[in-house]
Amino acid sequence: MGYQIAIDGPAGAGKSTIAKLIAKQKNFIYVDTGAMYRAMALFLLRSNINANDDEAVSLICPKAEITIRYENNEQIVLLNGENVNAYLRTEEVGLIASKSSANPKVREHLLGLQIKLAEENDVVMDGRDIGTCVLPNANVKVFLTASSRIRAKRRYLELTANNANEESPLDLDDIEQDIIKRDNQDMSREHAPLKQAADAVLVDTSDLTIEEVSALIIEICGQKR
Ligand code: C5P
Repeated sequence: MGYQIAIDGPAGAGKSTIAKLIAKQKNFIYVDTGAMYRAMALFLLRSNINANDDEAVSLICPKAEITIRYENNEQIVLLNGENVNAYLRTEEVGLIASKSSANPKVREHLLGLQIKLAEENDVVMDGRDIGTCVLPNANVKVFLTASSRIRAKRRYLELTANNANEESPLDLDDIEQDIIKRDNQDMSREHAPLKQAADAVLVDTSDLTIEEVSALIIEICGQKR
């Protein structure tokens, strides 16, 4: 079992940016568990399965073979052998992921892969249930948050950078509503809901720079070996 840094929090709190930076500084691997749930959502979308149809989702999810590969320190998600990174970061896939991730069969399907990665490597892993369910004994647990407006602005910037050629304009209010909806779904589900682990350090990133947040987490790591 390697060193484990668990970072949880709502959508757009800065988890992946911070986790990547810390992984680079510490020479750990970064495991983006949200991307795995998004790959499952993409699989359902492509298979024309309604993410709210629990029975259909449970039946088909074993057919999605989701694996991870690292290239130049970047996580590549393979869905049945295909690199699907380019299709994962849309709002549509995020909302479907938030529905299908409430299904215990989907969670069970992805949990083994997450635990295996943490057994074989030093990891910075981010998601919703890392400190509470996936790595309950993580060396360091952080719960990152920020106001919904600030999180929407960050997501807006990310989406405009990625969708420079898209025709439909993005609306900040719509993005904020989607984020709030997704957080509510993630917090209220029965299995592995989004919540701060009792032993996690709460960090509000609303008024902090990326460098300040990562320095804070590196400092916490120095205190917990
Ligand atoms: O972090 P990201 O926005 O990519 O996650 C997409 C969705 O995947 C979340 O809204 C959440 O429903 C689900 N997820 C989860 N557990 C995790 C990571 C993500 O349920 N550990």
